[in-house]
Amino acid sequence: MRIRTSQFVLAAVLMFACIGELYWLAEFGIADIEDVTHWSIVSGVGLVLVFVLIRSGFSLRWSDPSLALPQMLYAIACNAVAFVIAGDGRGVTLPLLSVILTFGMFGMSIRQVAFVGAYALVLFAWAITYVRETMGSLVPVEVHIAYFFMLAIVVVSCSFLTWRLTTMRQHIRDQKDQLQHALEKIQRIATRDELTGTANRRLMQEQMRQEFQRSSRSGAPVMVAMLDIDYFKRVNDTYGHQAGDRSLQMFAQVVQNSLRSTDLLARWGGEEFLVLLPDTDFSYGMACLERVRTQVAETTVAFGSVEIRFTVSIGVTQYLEGDSIESTVDRADFALYAAKAQGRNQVVSA
Ligand code: GH3
Ligand code: MG
Ligand code: MG
Repeated sequence: MRIRTSQFVLAAVLMFACIGELYWLAEFGIADIEDVTHWSIVSGVGLVLVFVLIRSGFSLRWSDPSLALPQMLYAIACNAVAFVIAGDGRGVTLPLLSVILTFGMFGMSIRQVAFVGAYALVLFAWAITYVRETMGSLVPVEVHIAYFFMLAIVVVSCSFLTWRLTTMRQHIRDQKDQLQHALEKIQRIATRDELTGTANRRLMQEQMRQEFQRSSRSGAPVMVAMLDIDYFKRVNDTYGHQAGDRSLQMFAQVVQNSLRSTDLLARWGGEEFLVLLPDTDFSYGMACLERVRTQVAETTVAFGSVEIRFTVSIGVTQYLEGDSIESTVDRADFALYAAKAQGRNQVVSA
């Protein structure tokens, strides 16, 4: 709205300058004072109408709320009439056409500007004919022909410059899109594990820091679990590294599907994963991780012609007020160690 209003103010200043010029010509008997007054009123009313439509927000319901095209068409019509009534001073009205066309360069398509240019040429051809035939101008016809050619040059140049601007705008838009894409990619790389798409260690540490702080303030329980795939080395040794990678991806997917959207799964390193369960009390957390364990045990990973199965051991702990991230994770690790020692494929709490 601010840009539209400031553009309007510029148009209004131009209009008043033109009114001033025409009155100047009338003052010295070059233009007819009555014609100039009528012209000023009609031009001014159009301007006020545009102002009301824009400021009231009424124009927002149209596809071009700045009313650029209707404003230009109206201004060119006023310009052509000014040419007719300006007497021998009519040369002063011609440069204005380039200014009006310049207004269109910023928002209009090349096609629209070409249309406006053609419209301007038709109107000025009419104005010149009218001046010569009805008003009996004594100026040699060659002068008027020269005027017309100069206007044609202005129209073609403005269309060309609009095309340049349109291309530049498109180029800037493309670059902005590319930057946006690059930014998203960087954010993904900085926070996600490439193989599994889960959070990485950095993001998990940041989330733990926030959740632990929140828990210290609100007293809401938080649980942390360390997951480690059992005998994963065998998967690699038996089926190859690629099968191991595929298994890790599948594992992450299965665990993710067993969690709530507010829980966070992160690859902590190798085939070890960390789960953060905010707002979760002990019994609910244990049930949730038990579900994860059974889901993993029931999963088969199809890799080529083989089917890979594995289990997971889980160590669980609760965040205690005053705990650091390291001590909480160490406790979960300790519980995981116990789960391994007790025969794997189980959930153990510390
Ligand atoms: P345990 O039940 O005691 O955990 O036995 P494990 O074989 O899983 O334990 P260990 O920690 O000795 O082995 C982990 C294996 O995980 C070793 C490594 O080859 C494999 N591994 C770690 N990261 C990746 C990875 O990104 N891709 C693949 N394919 N394998 C990985
Ligand atoms: Mg393991
Ligand atoms: Mg391990």
